[in-house]
Amino acid sequence: MDEGQLVLIPLCRPNISTADIEAVTEVLRSGMLVQGSKVAQLESAFCDYLGVKHAVAVSSGTATLHLALVALGIGAGDEVIIPALSYVATANVVELVGATPVFVDVKTEDFNIDTSKIEEAISERTKVIMPVHEFGLCSEMDKICEIARRHKLQVIEDAACALGATQNGNFAGTMGRVGSFSLHPRKAVTSGEGGVLTTDDDKLAHSFRVLRNHGIETRDGKMEFISAGFNYRMTDFQAALVLGQLGRFEANLSNRQEQANFYRSALVDHPAYVTPMEFPDRRHTWQTFHLLVNNELDRNGVMNELRAQGVGSSYGAQCIPAVEFYQQKYALDSAKLFPNALRAFKSGLAIPLFDGLSKEENQLVLRGLEAVAAQLRQRTSLI
Ligand SMILES: *Cc1c(COP(=O)(O)O)cnc(C)c1O
Repeated sequence: MDEGQLVLIPLCRPNISTADIEAVTEVLRSGMLVQGSKVAQLESAFCDYLGVKHAVAVSSGTATLHLALVALGIGAGDEVIIPALSYVATANVVELVGATPVFVDVKTEDFNIDTSKIEEAISERTKVIMPVHEFGLCSEMDKICEIARRHKLQVIEDAACALGATQNGNFAGTMGRVGSFSLHPRKAVTSGEGGVLTTDDDKLAHSFRVLRNHGIETRDGKMEFISAGFNYRMTDFQAALVLGQLGRFEANLSNRQEQANFYRSALVDHPAYVTPMEFPDRRHTWQTFHLLVNNELDRNGVMNELRAQGVGSSYGAQCIPAVEFYQQKYALDSAKLFPNALRAFKSGLAIPLFDGLSKEENQLVLRGLEAVAAQLRQRTSLI
């Protein structure tokens, strides 16, 4: 495939208005670039939107997860239960604090942790369950919180992809002890790089604020260095980029749902693709529209052919125990232990769905998918 081929419809494009750009340049002109009033505004906007007591903005989604584990005192000898299917950052942060990730397979219905398999993964070393709300759809948080209560475990929600997603009317990132959001450009609201931690716990929120800023606590106007912290601060011009997007976010969800409805109804009985499911107790935000490519089709081949048709796409998420580092370190047999995560890693296909994508463009994506399936099937049957 020609690498220089022009992709006409990208997988994703951030929703940035002229006013958002002006908000950024205003901060740049002020000369006050680091964490300041815009970061504070972003934090209170998150609190208002999600109905949480505290929101703490940091430099990335990975930093939010890392800080959550550090603030909860998770370290060597501890185990953290995570789904086998996610972005590698979910497992990397567990490694970074010296703890051990314990993988649980996902369900193919929602691509989230299989709650019926969590309890068999709990040991006396388990401290945290860290569910991931994949692709903008909540995990079964009611079940996860109930298991955590029974076994006295903490819940950190990796809601990196799931701003605005709900289960039983509760927002993702507000049901566990800590919620973690990413503001990377692949997510629905972006600061370039950035992340937000949410919690109702005053002490934890204070720890997050201290740890993101070199371990500094301000007492009576005096700075005290109370722990070995990080520099995980967000800049004010990044925060300024987010405020407008967050204000428009809810209003754009209905358009995202319309796009998802279009793809789902057009592809529901398609022999080449398996469409994502919806659940009456959960609101999907469609951060990613994620299909499974039928077993006899090669997903990477589909991606290359789509690119030739001018349609951007990507695989969905990683079967983390099967990537090089985790395979070498833990030598787990993913085909046996995590068949659903492995299938999604090999056959998952994310297709364009973002704010501002037109009906005509949705049609072009669909036509691309149909043409590719027809071509590849013809080629397969010739072999
Ligand atoms: C994007 C993502 C992250 C990492 O967020 P960054 O802001 O890129 O560091 C972590 N977990 C999940 C599930 C993600 O999708």
